[in-house]
Amino acid sequence: MKSLLGMSFAELQELVAQHNLPKFTAKQLVEWLYLKRVKTFDDMTNLSKATRQLLSENYTTGYRDFVTVQESRDGTKKYLFPAEDGFIEAAYIPEKERATLCVSCQVGCKMNCQFCQTGKQGFQGNLSAGDIINQILNLPEFENLSNFVFMGMGEPMDNYDNIMRVLDIMTSEWGLAMSPTRITVSTSGLIPNMKRFMQESRCNLAVSLHSPFHDERAKIMPIENKFPISEVIHAIRQHDWSGQRRVSFEYIVFKGFNDSQRHVNELAKQLGPLRCRVNLIRFHAVPGVDMQSPTMDDMTRFRDRLNDKGIIATIRASRGQDINAACGLLSTAAKEKQEE
Ligand code: SF4
Repeated sequence: MKSLLGMSFAELQELVAQHNLPKFTAKQLVEWLYLKRVKTFDDMTNLSKATRQLLSENYTTGYRDFVTVQESRDGTKKYLFPAEDGFIEAAYIPEKERATLCVSCQVGCKMNCQFCQTGKQGFQGNLSAGDIINQILNLPEFENLSNFVFMGMGEPMDNYDNIMRVLDIMTSEWGLAMSPTRITVSTSGLIPNMKRFMQESRCNLAVSLHSPFHDERAKIMPIENKFPISEVIHAIRQHDWSGQRRVSFEYIVFKGFNDSQRHVNELAKQLGPLRCRVNLIRFHAVPGVDMQSPTMDDMTRFRDRLNDKGIIATIRASRGQDINAACGLLSTAAKEKQEE
């Protein structure tokens, strides 16, 4: 049965018209689904009994409850949600002054980045807009959430239309009316849809950089062979970043691989005067990945060398290490268990 979660106001208006329901039902549905976050049609108490019955005979609300949660000593929680094609993860990361949710957009991923557990799962399917927004609306800590990063499982630009539908619901006045500056969408560098995103959305962009050198990046990110990072950065430079909207680059630091002065120099050359930030992420061992983890001293040195070159670089605090918070680990375990 088709689910309503993920539908825009216009689509709900269409659905209401199709069933000859009163026009105002669409507004009521938007409020129940997105503002009051009720999970069953029975709970939509201002709809007539006949309308509720018609809806439950033809649709589901689309809410799916999480199946497991793992909590870290630092308060990070990793939720495992069911989806059409398997399981997906959403990580809740509370900090002193904000709380971020890391959202998934696909079951598995096609990009096959060598350091990523999700990449190793292969690709099982795109999440519907409903299954993407369910991670947000159906999170027990929903009320605390201040920031959203689409950096969980999958490549957002490879599920572009559904991501844009979700961003529309999140930022529209009729929906959650959130500021787009609280939302960041990441990409490994799918240039055509990244360009569309820069034009069609007002949310922040984050690019997984990880190495400024073509051959080296291609070793860990096969997408580099199709869309080289120099062209990704060139496309980003064409955009006007002078407003509130931000572009950032994610850089996982692998000891002895991408943390030399040569890397600092090349990053400074490529990013140059672009108004951006580089987020340095310390690599932590992932099963089956033959890469070394840097020490905190290595991280600080690398950051300082970038800062000395005029690049704003910060070290992202590692969260949830005791619960394997790197994306893809929990859902891989769930998938393996299902296959046993
Ligand atoms: Fe996909 Fe992101 Fe993992 Fe790369 S790092 S395989 S883009 S989920």
